Amino acid sequence: MIMEDQKHDMLLGGKYEKGRLIGKGTFAKVYYGREISTGESVAIKVINKDQVKDQGMVEQIQREISATRLVRHPNIVELHEVLATKSKIYYVMEYVSGGELFAKVSNGGRLKEDVARKYFVQLISAVDFCHSRGVSHRDIKPENLLLNGNDDLKITDFGFSALNEQKKIDGLLHTQCGTPAYVAPEVLRKKGYDGAKADIWSCGVVLYVLLAGFLPFHDENLMCLYRKIFKAEYEFPPWFSPETRKLISKLLMADPERRISIQGIMRVPWYRKGLSRPRSFRLNKQLITVSGSSPDLLSNPGTLKKSTSSPSFFNAFELISSMSSGFDLSTLFETKEKKKVASIFTSKFSAAAIVERLEKLAREMRFQVEKEDDFKVKMEGTEEGRKGVLAVTAEVFEVAAEMTVVEFSKDSGDTLEYEKFCEEEVRPGLKDIVWTWQGDDCNSSVDGDGSVCSN
Ligand code: ADP
Ligand code: MG
Repeated sequence: MIMEDQKHDMLLGGKYEKGRLIGKGTFAKVYYGREISTGESVAIKVINKDQVKDQGMVEQIQREISATRLVRHPNIVELHEVLATKSKIYYVMEYVSGGELFAKVSNGGRLKEDVARKYFVQLISAVDFCHSRGVSHRDIKPENLLLNGNDDLKITDFGFSALNEQKKIDGLLHTQCGTPAYVAPEVLRKKGYDGAKADIWSCGVVLYVLLAGFLPFHDENLMCLYRKIFKAEYEFPPWFSPETRKLISKLLMADPERRISIQGIMRVPWYRKGLSRPRSFRLNKQLITVSGSSPDLLSNPGTLKKSTSSPSFFNAFELISSMSSGFDLSTLFETKEKKKVASIFTSKFSAAAIVERLEKLAREMRFQVEKEDDFKVKMEGTEEGRKGVLAVTAEVFEVAAEMTVVEFSKDSGDTLEYEKFCEEEVRPGLKDIVWTWQGDDCNSSVDGDGSVCSN
């Protein structure tokens, strides 16, 4: 069931055409591409699995996928899907046409304060969004900040992000990564650090670079560079305004505990001047319009979170591997803990529609229903079974464009009764909203030559 490497390298899953090379990163090559049916431009990031394995970066790549799945924001490069062959992983992403922000400040060029502020506001909005969802980026620098056709900023390269849930018990991260010039002092000290606070430092370096056209910390000698970063030792060029000096000195605060928070940044008058009017946020493919008159709505995470609560993320590996038994990506990655997969189906209906159907079904079966949140329904039988009452949880994940995954798991009761419940009640009861059941013959959604279910 695995794609034939050569053939599919040029014509991914029969769905995309791969074109010219547009960028190179540490582990990846990025190509221009086109979705054949729609003609839509995409960027295809190709990672060589062998290389990844050699360098022991498997976990990092998996993190990247999880993290990118978790975040959708107008200023974050959107991941459309993940495809794989035996030897390669392909990320199909939104194509960002305006090049790197870096190009605007390379060769000594620098930006006017208003222009730098616009990018900084977009950067902070995206970073805040990531942080509120438990993701830190950890490699914020102008090379990873792209511009689209409207000259809006898009953050790319989540290769170094880490999910907060993977943090050590002390809540700190222990891996060292990133590019020295942008890296926060606590990261260099290798003592473990808070990824979110380190991101804020990097944003400070980015703002400095945009306004200055050069780095705040630079030195031929790496030790000297480190020392300067540890002490936050830098100078302001004469053209920096008093307000930008004040903000940058709060961002480039060596002690992470004393460094300004995102909320703090958002209160700074200089920053607020750059807030634009309300705009649309697309979250997990639901169009959410942030409306109202206060510019705060754009960036206030409290407001945002309330209106955009979204399902937990679903690891793309788990998803693809559960779609077709012959195509098990997780084995390619030697994941340590192989979760026993529960009953899963995919659907093209929205989470809200599915949750409503689940509630209705449960009521019809005279189960007690409890909607835990917008994406989780708990159902409990009223009669004692062989091993007590059967209780089942259904969880809904919106994983991609018009693609929802629903996972059932048994909380209590007898396994056979649970299986019977799935077979005789759930399956027939939901058949009009189900696209495919996990483990079912996948042929309808797999190409004849056996590539991924990527329709
Ligand atoms: P790495 O993780 O290996 O650093 P990146 O994701 O940063 O790779 O991509 C490398 C380069 O490819 C970027 O600096 C950029 O120039 C280009 N690039 C990456 N993603 C896109 C995209 N979605 N659209 C256009 N160009 C991109
Ligand atoms: Mg990069």
